[in-house]
Amino acid sequence: MRFSPMTPHHVETFRALVSPDRFSTGPSVLDLHAGDQSFHLPRRPEAVIWPVNRDEVGRILSVAQKLRIPVTAWGAGTSLEGNPIPVQGGLVVDFTRMNRILDIREADFQADVEPGVIYQDLNEKLKFTGLFFPPDPGARATIGGMIANNASGPHTVRYGSTKDCILRLAVVLAGGRCIEVGSRAAKTASGYDLLHLFIGSEGTLAQPDRF
Ligand SMILES: Cc1cc2nc3c(=O)[nH]c(=O)nc-3n(C[C@H](O)[C@H](O)[C@H](O)COP(=O)(O)OP(=O)(O)OC[C@H]3O[C@@H](n4cnc5c(N)ncnc54)[C@H](O)[C@@H]3O)c2cc1C
Repeated sequence: MRFSPMTPHHVETFRALVSPDRFSTGPSVLDLHAGDQSFHLPRRPEAVIWPVNRDEVGRILSVAQKLRIPVTAWGAGTSLEGNPIPVQGGLVVDFTRMNRILDIREADFQADVEPGVIYQDLNEKLKFTGLFFPPDPGARATIGGMIANNASGPHTVRYGSTKDCILRLAVVLAGGRCIEVGSRAAKTASGYDLLHLFIGSEGTLAQPDRF
């Protein structure tokens, strides 16, 4: 796809999609979203936006596609591979304000979370239940970023990596359409395994919204 540079009109169009404190073109904000923890060279985006729910993510991606603005998802920027760097410029969608733990279903060994939840914060909340979210890459990473990276850590030897701990995803596709993949049932074999297509896709296919 041929991308368009962001014009002042584009900036105002994106700004109008969210409340004023959730859109920025400020240089220090752009610098904070230019590089991760890898050796790859930083590249500034042209703007950063912070959605707070799935509908906003859908509207942002729909407008971005119409205007041909490149979009890069941002969790906590801790990746060691350069994949949250907005190499084409454009818009960074920062998920840190979608950080609610929506439900803990202790009897099912399941939790519903938004993508910006930091995995250590989820584990802190879970500790009184005896449950925990095992993948432990070490960084203060978001669960959305870990899903995109299929992150793992020392616990992986016993409990598997992120792909083994996610049952269901709501994902917002490029263009803004939201679909749900996977199932709450651990034992399911119906249909194509789209869930595991998205896990490890490094932000190239969709923006996970709620798991
Ligand atoms: C000290 C250290 C040790 C580490 N050790 C390990 C290890 O042992 N094993 C291992 O696997 N990893 C390891 N990592 C890397 C770890 O996997 C990443 O840091 C983590 O997964 C990135 O999470 P993040 O929230 O910072 O995402 P980011 O770095 O912000 O983004 C990572 C990717 O996810 C995409 N993304 C982020 N949020 C979303 C979203 N909501 N929707 C769609 N795409 C999204 C981004 O576009 C990017 O492609 C380590 C990192 C550090 C700093």
